[in-house]
Amino acid sequence: MNPLISVKDLSIGFHQRHLVLPAVENISFDVAAGETLGIVGESGSGKSLSARAILGLVPAGGEITSGQITYQPASGDPIEISSLPKNGRDIRSLRGSKIAMVFQEPMASLSPVHTIGNQISTTLRQHTDLSKRAALTRAIELLDQVGMASPAEIAEQYAHQISGGMRQRAMIAMALSCNPRLLICDEPTTALDATTEAQIVDLLAKLQADLNMGMIFISHNIGLVSEIADRVMVMYLGQEVETGPAETVLKTSGHPYTRALLAALPAFTEAGAELATLQGTVPDPTSRPTGCSFHPRCPEFAGEHCKTVRPVLHAIADRHCAKCHLHD
Ligand code: SF4
Repeated sequence: MNPLISVKDLSIGFHQRHLVLPAVENISFDVAAGETLGIVGESGSGKSLSARAILGLVPAGGEITSGQITYQPASGDPIEISSLPKNGRDIRSLRGSKIAMVFQEPMASLSPVHTIGNQISTTLRQHTDLSKRAALTRAIELLDQVGMASPAEIAEQYAHQISGGMRQRAMIAMALSCNPRLLICDEPTTALDATTEAQIVDLLAKLQADLNMGMIFISHNIGLVSEIADRVMVMYLGQEVETGPAETVLKTSGHPYTRALLAALPAFTEAGAELATLQGTVPDPTSRPTGCSFHPRCPEFAGEHCKTVRPVLHAIADRHCAKCHLHD
């Protein structure tokens, strides 16, 4: 059976004067129903942009320069999302109904002047023929499903009247309102404290399993991603640098960047030892390093070869690949 979403050799670029600056380069991944793909990397790695391209939400100035994004409906022929007109009827009918997204900052996504119930029921009415009353009843059911203690009361409240964790639950309820087949969660817990973060991750994992959705979970925190994902794709400067089953990537990572991300996790640091940090920052795409993009931050392993020759993705074990000259 075809995966729900299939991304093949996707590249996205931004126009700057006469140049097209690559922001995402030749990434490929599939997500099947009931499966969670985690995408991990620092800010500027292209992880959110890649996910947004699935919804036809590449920001102004950017465009898909090559590759395909294909969605497999429950019945009928596959739909090539990457060739649909931006903001046309076809992509709008998929967005929010078949493919939904939970964003990082719910306060920026929720309307300050409409009640939570009103916003969820409005989304429902855009994609279904429910009456106003039935949509509100369904909105309250959804708030109950995402663990709100008094869903009918929460439906009457505005975003500023509830906590950050409750706002994110409301966003998840809204995303689930039309029974999406694929849920994209873009840093859904970054604005939350650690306890609420754990609750939201548990909730997403439970809903994904109960509803047999495909899920893409994006985070800069590789520890968090490996808790929820079946497979992980690590991105650096718009490229896929390692991909594999979550447990394999965690235990036998094959790329120095992945190892550096893991080494910076408190769970991987001995009690009392200083937490490792990853030196430097992701380079600006306008001054992309030659050879391996990671070489300026890879002093432990980088050789002369790394400074001039781009590595390719090598299969290093079953379904486990890394883009590094260490595996040449
Ligand atoms: S190719 Fe070289 S510089 Fe790049 S990650 Fe591997 S060892 Fe480090």
